Amino acid sequence: MRIWKIPAPKQLVTEERDESVQTPTQAKVKVTNVLLSPSELRIWRGSVKPAYPVVPGRFAVGVVSEAGEGCVSVEKNTRVYIHDTVPCGKCEQCLAGHGESCAAMQAAGIDREGYLRDFAVTEEADLSPLPPSVSDTDALFVGIISLCEAVIDRLDAPKGTHIAVFGAGEIGNILCQLLIYHQAVPILIDPDEARLSAAAACGIYYTLKADEELLSNIARITGGRMAAHSVFTSYNPMPADIPYEATAAGGTVVYTGFGFPAAKASLKPALDRRLTLTTVTNDFSNSAAAINLLVNKAVNLAPFGLETYPVAEAEQLFAARAEELAAGKNVKCCVLNLM
Ligand SMILES: [Zn+2]
Repeated sequence: MRIWKIPAPKQLVTEERDESVQTPTQAKVKVTNVLLSPSELRIWRGSVKPAYPVVPGRFAVGVVSEAGEGCVSVEKNTRVYIHDTVPCGKCEQCLAGHGESCAAMQAAGIDREGYLRDFAVTEEADLSPLPPSVSDTDALFVGIISLCEAVIDRLDAPKGTHIAVFGAGEIGNILCQLLIYHQAVPILIDPDEARLSAAAACGIYYTLKADEELLSNIARITGGRMAAHSVFTSYNPMPADIPYEATAAGGTVVYTGFGFPAAKASLKPALDRRLTLTTVTNDFSNSAAAINLLVNKAVNLAPFGLETYPVAEAEQLFAARAEELAAGKNVKCCVLNLM
């Protein structure tokens, strides 16, 4: 089988390797599509420095080509989402059989090898079968949907609650759609009008530009109460302390994303308001629940305009897109096709 790996920043090389099913509960999956997101580009550039070499590719779908005799939920030709985080298997929770509460979930493409490879051998437990109504490209968002659901669980907000969401990239947009699905009232904030109009096309009603009118606009929408809680998505160009004055006293500010850049924040407004600051990242992925949300059409992914490229173009794509990212542009996700 062939794998693509980043041996050092700004390099992508291929390697041939033999891997086969080792235990009855493992399956071999022909990887068909991998999401190329800004996280992969940061690793390629070296602006995020994991332990190189890295096999990139956090989000992937494929088709089972061989299932161990002990597999019960997948068989040959089952289309699957390959879980993007798996329990470490070593911590106290994992050893007690509670992998879902693992203290050190391992993310593919960061903490462990990712899925930019033509075949992957995994435990059956790390595969979620895909219903026919969920396309391969939609399924690539299962990990992001799962992250957003974990944020909503953390907020535990009653119906009709105003939630300010900072950053209108894929995570912010999907989070707002899911908040609406759960009957909360998101207010999506971003400096980029194009991203806000894409969000409006997804049915997100309140979109606000991050400008000097921001706080007065939030006050107007919320009848002066401000947002009950706020969510700040990582790697957006706004300052990390922008949510504090937008959030009502006693509220929660969740920082979320797949990793965080170095950030400074002026804490005084958060302390004055007795805000709770917390993080949702690399939590246990509830992939089955996320797939169910796709089946129920709770999320509209069409406005992301996802483009697909053959994996043969991977090297050029990494280089070109990483350059755009370094120039401060909002780089969209795209799909690498390995068929
Ligand atoms: Zn663990």
